[in-house]
Amino acid sequence: MAQAQAAVEKKRMRTPIESGCPDGMQYMHPLMIKNFGNWKYHDRPRPGVLHHVAYSGDEIWTVRVGTQRQLGPYEINLLCDIIDQYGEGHVRFTIRSNMEVMVSKWEKVGPLIQAFNDAGYPVGGTGNSVTMIAHTQGWLHCDIPGTDASGVVKSLMDELYEEFIKEEMPNRVHITTSCCQINCGGQGDIAINVQHTKPPKINHDLVANVCERPSVVARCPVAAIRPAIVNGKPSLEVDEKKCICCGACYPPCPPMQINDPEHSKLAIWVGGKNSNARSKPMFQKLVAAGLPNNPPRWPEVAAVVKKILYTYKKDARDWERVGDWVERIGWPRFFELTGLPFTKFHIDNWRGARNSLNASAHIRF
Ligand code: SF4
Ligand code: SF4
Repeated sequence: MAQAQAAVEKKRMRTPIESGCPDGMQYMHPLMIKNFGNWKYHDRPRPGVLHHVAYSGDEIWTVRVGTQRQLGPYEINLLCDIIDQYGEGHVRFTIRSNMEVMVSKWEKVGPLIQAFNDAGYPVGGTGNSVTMIAHTQGWLHCDIPGTDASGVVKSLMDELYEEFIKEEMPNRVHITTSCCQINCGGQGDIAINVQHTKPPKINHDLVANVCERPSVVARCPVAAIRPAIVNGKPSLEVDEKKCICCGACYPPCPPMQINDPEHSKLAIWVGGKNSNARSKPMFQKLVAAGLPNNPPRWPEVAAVVKKILYTYKKDARDWERVGDWVERIGWPRFFELTGLPFTKFHIDNWRGARNSLNASAHIRF
């Protein structure tokens, strides 16, 4: 114990650096530092609460709270006051933006949950629940989004509230959203991603001043961009027959505007997972396209997500992830059960893409 605390103290006094996140050990609950790497088992006494028991006999309870993710000073202060008063002053954020508060006594768990609920924050997201939706930065932080990922998350989680506080799904459900087709949101059991449907519109007056043309040409996965002189100025042109509307040219060259209030749509993908428990990791597949990007509540997207989610809940066997379920029943049955239309755009051409798309990291001119 003394050694571990000395190590924490040493790290606290390290020279500040400008990159990388600080060592998490210094912020951990003392019981977690004491028993680091020496846990015997863990269980879940109720949805939203994890219970860890160490070989030393120490026990610790972790209460998981869902937040609206974009937290302002008011929300941060409110949550920190609750954690100081009812918890033990230790909190961490999960990769899905839940907050986890650690306490050393079971008697503290009930009042802590009550205080969060009274302030309007749900406790849940563990085990076989729909945990918090992972999402990308949206309009707040990134420079290329076509929608506000956080807004889609907030409106969807409002509708899936009951599935967050209960553990009634066949297995855990990870939903993700991404606000452009670069999709830094990654794989999900259900993923909501922006889908551009028109080639970029080029502002030829700005290209020469703003864009490094060779890098933009090299960015295009289907070699649809060529250098051109337009109105006497160096610019770029797009072969619209080849363009797959991916939006990859827009980040290095903002005058190639691809976001459009009408033609940037939302698409839903299903069956992805990173975990290799019970079955290997899987790529998600497109199941619905062309849904309107309709803030502030995105009702069309919510309707499709709920349809897929509740069909899975009803039809899947215990412990099947969404991808496992679809693999067992087959894609034709998936479309039949969910009532989603199947079109030619759903045919997976991933293997063909290996030969036809520019998958090389080398720059070509
Ligand atoms: S999904 Fe695209 S727009 Fe959204 S944060 Fe990631 S890179 Fe930026
Ligand atoms: S949107 Fe994609 S495919 Fe179309 S020109 Fe830009 S990089 Fe190429």
